[in-house]
Amino acid sequence: MTSRSLTEVPSSDIGDNGRNAISTPENLVVVDSQPAGKESSDSQPSAPVKRKSVYDNVMAQFDKAADLMHLDANIRKILAKTENEITVNFPVKMHDGKVEMFTGYRIQHNDALGPFKGGLRYHPSVDRDEVRALAAWMTWKAAIAEIPFGGAKGGIQIDPAHYSTDELERITRRFTYALGDNIGPEYDIPAPDVNTNSQIMAWIQDTYLSTMSPHERHRNIHVVTGKPVVSGGSHGRDKATGQGIVFTIEQWAKHREVSLEGATFIVQGFGNVGSWASRLLTRLGAKLVAVEDVTGGIRNRDGIDPDDLLKYAQVHGGLRKYPTGEFVDHIMFMQTQADVFIPAALGNQITAETAPWLKVRLVAEGANGPTTPEGDAILQEQGIDLIPDILCNTGGVIVSYFEWLQNKRKEFWDLEEVDRKLRKKIISAYNRVHDMATEKKTDWRTAAYIVALSRLEMVYKDRGIFP
Ligand code: NAD
Repeated sequence: MTSRSLTEVPSSDIGDNGRNAISTPENLVVVDSQPAGKESSDSQPSAPVKRKSVYDNVMAQFDKAADLMHLDANIRKILAKTENEITVNFPVKMHDGKVEMFTGYRIQHNDALGPFKGGLRYHPSVDRDEVRALAAWMTWKAAIAEIPFGGAKGGIQIDPAHYSTDELERITRRFTYALGDNIGPEYDIPAPDVNTNSQIMAWIQDTYLSTMSPHERHRNIHVVTGKPVVSGGSHGRDKATGQGIVFTIEQWAKHREVSLEGATFIVQGFGNVGSWASRLLTRLGAKLVAVEDVTGGIRNRDGIDPDDLLKYAQVHGGLRKYPTGEFVDHIMFMQTQADVFIPAALGNQITAETAPWLKVRLVAEGANGPTTPEGDAILQEQGIDLIPDILCNTGGVIVSYFEWLQNKRKEFWDLEEVDRKLRKKIISAYNRVHDMATEKKTDWRTAAYIVALSRLEMVYKDRGIFP
């Protein structure tokens, strides 16, 4: 495959993500403006509204940790930037014979610890800023989990609901072709994320391999992870992120001496991550009392059966109008009393505005970036525990690493082996973050960053900076 030159396009204005509730679309984030109803004191025309981007949130988290650990100033400069930012504009023929242009991204944050690794997201909110943030979080995750990967992320700015399966296949294949050698099994390995799944990974794999000589194909099947098992995927990859979340919650419960039998939880997002986390936590005796997805929210103090809800959501395209339980709006959902809240949808859901609504003991971040720095401060004030995203949702990338290893070694591990190895890895990561939080007397997100940054600092110090 041929390498593409780097083409830059301006990031677009993004509309609403179609949500029926009040949370902010991920890329537009918090607006630092005057309180409602107030005018500027000197009656001058108000200053332009300053928007904080998702990447600003990453940098605020990064800076806090880097200051506390006295990260080497030169290494700090390196890690504050992404390595490569690839933007591709590509044409696809639609059902009606017309051509539509699409914009796709792949942003490679850092590969000091291994090949770039991270998911692909299909969502209207996808833009360079969001992908940058998601790519950086991948670097920290791999470092915390001690797996030999760097961080990347990508996606296409589309609402997949507007396209047929055939069109999505052509969009995916053309995107893969446009990315060319910017991805590869030993260079940059995509995986599923929001609105992408094992089917989309299979199309990417097939397109990538089709451009190679037949002799090369079977040696390169690890160009993506999260593939269907028959195409070289790993057992346990579909549930891996949810499973990892549940392993970390179990560990938290053990430390806090909380019994999960009879504990209550609420979940935002009922896709891959939210539905698996719900089903696995329920199997430990916990009770799901409220769920929200893009179509709406439901609540039931007697408990919601996540297996039944999943069947309903698959048939009806969401959980709205699920017959058991009351319909709740976003504020009511967020105010539901429970032991645990698992955000498993988009970013920027726990903010200065929404954090005070929460009535939970623990936030276990299944989603990437669900909490803004302002939201974090409020959670701390309220004494709500947090298992940060870069620790809590690493189950996905850990089992992706297992899939990649199985492909390289031509092995197939059974589910039991995958689960056992995942539990061991994620609990070690949890304990590293726990110990760092105790040692530095800091919050868990900052501790998780310090664990990641220390590992990256070590590798740069060992190798030095070329030339
Ligand atoms: P998915 O596409 O399978 O599911 C997304 C869910 O979020 C859907 O139920 C959708 O209805 C819901 N949703 C979307 N917008 C919403 C809104 N505004 N309010 C409420 N619900 C909304 O995606 P996924 O793979 O489950 O990913 C969910 C989150 O977990 C993302 O932040 C993703 O980056 C993160 N994550 C995913 C993985 C993985 O392995 N899939 C790994 C690590 C982190």
